[in-house]
Order: sequence, then structure tokens, then C-alpha cells
Amino acid sequence: MTRFKQLAYTLIAALLLPASSYADDNPVRDYPAQKIAAHTYVIHGPLGQPSVENQGFMNNPGFVITKDGVVVIDPGSSLEAGRMVLRQIAKHTSLPVIDVFDTHIHGDHWLGNQAIIEAYPNAKLLAHPQMIREAQEGGAATWIAQMNTLTNNYTASTQAVIPTIPVVDEQSIQIGDMHFHIYAPENAHSGTDIMIEVVEESVLFTGDNVLNNYIGRLDDGTFKGSIAACNRAIGLHDKHYVPGHGQTGSVAIVRRYRDYLSTLYAAVKEQYDAGKSDFEMKDAVAAKLQKFRNLPGFTEQLGKHISLAVLEIEANQQ
Ligand SMILES: [Zn+2]
Repeated sequence: MTRFKQLAYTLIAALLLPASSYADDNPVRDYPAQKIAAHTYVIHGPLGQPSVENQGFMNNPGFVITKDGVVVIDPGSSLEAGRMVLRQIAKHTSLPVIDVFDTHIHGDHWLGNQAIIEAYPNAKLLAHPQMIREAQEGGAATWIAQMNTLTNNYTASTQAVIPTIPVVDEQSIQIGDMHFHIYAPENAHSGTDIMIEVVEESVLFTGDNVLNNYIGRLDDGTFKGSIAACNRAIGLHDKHYVPGHGQTGSVAIVRRYRDYLSTLYAAVKEQYDAGKSDFEMKDAVAAKLQKFRNLPGFTEQLGKHISLAVLEIEANQQ
């Protein structure tokens, strides 16, 4: 091989190496887990979209310590976030992670799977069958790219590890000494949603079907489906509700989020029936949502939520 060729190959090899991300020297800062029930913990992430400032981490990973091992729900948005979750788990148990539930397709909830499999290659990854399908059919790549963009490549070393085990509505899974009951509301937050009830703990992990003191994207969901998911969650009479974003609380947080959704939908319907288009009705709808106007995300999402509600009203009339 000529020297020139050698040099060219070396250059090409260097270009093909995975970009070393500055996350390697700059791990996601620790968010201590809060104990919400006898064996259940939640790491409450900061509110907001993934960003450079929050290192892409902004969801609510949870974990349940069973007698046979740890069950993780939503291990976060990236390899580094997942490693942070594992550091918090290690403060409470030395048992291995044996199962992971991913609540839905949005990458801020499940791209941390990579860290779990890196540490525990035999852990099982469970999700809604539609979540698995969408991730395989391009959703995973889209979310990896989106997370990199939003964090200015902080998450560059993250790779998608897609769940392999589908779970369905009303399935009950025993893990160790605990029972995990699955609820899969249709067309709710994302069309790929599961809610996970830890029966012995009277805890419901709602995924993004419920948000607490935060208004988020509903681009992949429906108002009616989200309201139905809230009603289902309320009907379970659990003691603790863990939302996808925001603090854990009682059933009151589910009622409040449902109130936002149903008030907005009803206000849009009223305006729509009066012949108003989505940009004409914004002030009138906002006036009905006074008590939510100071929530983070409200201003960014209002216009989009109104447009989505209009589309949904039109679709329901056909
Ligand atoms: Zn989501």
C-alpha cells in the first residue's frame, strides 16, 4: 500500500469512528430517587423539553425492588441518563435490573434502555406492540436524531435498544413477589401507550397519559383517548400516580390533567360550532383555561393543542 493510500485509509477510519461525545466526561447530574411506596422509587426529572441545559434528561424514571430483582419503568432519554438511573438504583439495592417497561415511543422515556442492557445484558425490555413496531420502522432513528439536535450532540453516544417483548391490555405479569398489571389505552398520548400498575404498592405509572403541572406535546395523540385514559386511571383507585412529567401525587393530579384536556376540547368545540377557525378562537379558548396559563409548556402548546382539537372534532364528524 502506498503511503498516500495508507494515510487516506487512516483518515477514513478516523471519520468512521463514533463521535466521542462530551457526555463521557460530563455525565448526567444525579437526581436522587424519591421513595413513594414501600418498594417503589421515582426519579423526578426537571420539567421542559430536552435541552443542553438539562442534558436531555427530563422524564420520570421509576423502579420497583422485587425480591428477585429490580423492575425499571422508563429509564430516561439517553445512554447517560440511563447510567444516572442505575447510579440511583445502586444507592437502594444491589439486586440486578431484570425487567424494563417502556411506557411509549417518545425517546425521552426509553433511549436509556441502552444503559440497562450495557449493565444487565439479560434484562427483558417490554412495551406496547405498536411501540416496538414504530421504533423498528424508523421511530428509533428519528428520536435519536431529535435528541442529538435538542442537546447539541450531548447524547451522541446513545444507540436505540428497542424492546422485544410485547405486552397487551389487561395483562398481568408476576415479577418476583410483585404483580404488574398493564393498561393500554387506545389513541391516548401516542397510540403506543401502556400504564403499569404495581398492584401490591397501589402505584400507577401513567406514562405521558398524565402530566402534572406541565403541558406537553399531544402531536401523536387524541384528546378523547387521553381523557379516556385519565378516566381509566382514576377508576383504578390507586394511592400513588406517577405522571410522565411532574411530581407524583394522588388521584387529584389525574383529575386536574383531565380537566385541562376536557376544558380545552369543549371550548374548541364551542368555537368550532360557532364557525370560528383555529386562529380566531385562541383568545376565547385561553380565557377558559385561566387556571392553567402559568404552567410550563402552556404558551408553547396552546396553538398546537387547539389545531389538534379542531382536526379531531372534524374527524369525529365524518
Ligand atoms: Zn411522550
